[in-house]
Amino acid sequence: MHLSRRGFVTGLASAVGYAGLRPGNLLAAPVAAAKKAASDVSAIITAAAKKRMVEYDGMAKMSSNENPWGPLPSVMDAMNYAWKYANRYGYPDGGLVEAIADHHKVKPENILLGAGSGEILDVMALAFLQGNKKVLGVEPTYSTVYQRASQIKAEAIKLPLNKDYSQSIPAFIEAANKHASEIGFIYLCNPNNPTGLIVSKAEVKQLLDGIPKDMPVMIDEAYHHFVQDPNYGPSADYVIEGRPVVIARTFSKIFGIAAMRLGYAVAPPALIQKMKPYSMSSINSIVKWGAVAGLADTAGQKRMLDMTIKNRDKAIAEVKALGYEVLPTETNFYMVGIRREVQPVIDEFKKRGVAVGRPFPPMTQHLRVSVGTDQETARFIAAFKEIFPATPRTTAGA
Ligand code: PLP
Repeated sequence: MHLSRRGFVTGLASAVGYAGLRPGNLLAAPVAAAKKAASDVSAIITAAAKKRMVEYDGMAKMSSNENPWGPLPSVMDAMNYAWKYANRYGYPDGGLVEAIADHHKVKPENILLGAGSGEILDVMALAFLQGNKKVLGVEPTYSTVYQRASQIKAEAIKLPLNKDYSQSIPAFIEAANKHASEIGFIYLCNPNNPTGLIVSKAEVKQLLDGIPKDMPVMIDEAYHHFVQDPNYGPSADYVIEGRPVVIARTFSKIFGIAAMRLGYAVAPPALIQKMKPYSMSSINSIVKWGAVAGLADTAGQKRMLDMTIKNRDKAIAEVKALGYEVLPTETNFYMVGIRREVQPVIDEFKKRGVAVGRPFPPMTQHLRVSVGTDQETARFIAAFKEIFPATPRTTAGA
């Protein structure tokens, strides 16, 4: 089953498919590192697994809005500490639910944990779309709720974005009132993925004041840590007011533990109780300790925010200097208007070892790019210049 080390590495070099790359370019170092890492574990994983690992490790990963630098050190330290409970059931968990409740100034009964906020979104759809109810949201947005809805044969009412790609609050209010009896809940992603645009604090209030009082609203705040616009505000206060609002949060972004799978909901107890039967309650002990440490580590969060904003704004400035528009993002990703269909462009980036975001219909002439490390950013810009060569200036008389 196992290849020799040499055979494995040589085989991978061709299998990975970086043939189009020139020697000495930015890709060589990461691919070499990936091959070394794979050869280090070559005795314990299959050839197929190694191939996937080298391919994955060699890519500049700018497709999934992760934290490219990895977990906050404080989070890793706490998780390492918690290994001592890995062999136990009924272990201490660091008081995560209480820590989250304190963080939002709510009670533990306002909190539901999920294996990622993706699970919270799933649970929301399962709990609130029974009996042919519909979810109301925009398109494009983060599509987990719509996917889950379609799996359970529930429908979605999808509103178009405004011309400037913002979400139309008047359109939400109109549709919510018009279809009031059909709607199970509203999904508002704020900031929105894939656009990176926010809905302001005033607009959130306008929305909540304008819809039927008992209509549940899920506000997905996965990227709230990155927002710098003073007009934005997190919405947990509406939970304290007792409005039927469910806030979804994640530890996958600024805390850098996407693969550890932890997110949560903040909502009035009645809504939490309605969601609970659909949740799997399968959070591991180690990530809970990491999350408690991460919440307390505001300096670490700030450091990560600064690194993110620095690399994001640098990349955006370079793309703009090449003549391309970028939407005004408040997140760890940005959308570039590329003036051509995006799928072939995604393929071109992939050939150059750069993973970028998938297409987000109907915005099929926009490319979503996640913030990367310095090296990933350099690789993205180098690939961008190759894929979008500058058009030569026409000289007089030419
Ligand atoms: N919500 C939004 C808007 C996202 O972009 C993502 C992931 O990228 C999630 C939720 C789910 O994140 P996770 O399940 O890792 O918490």
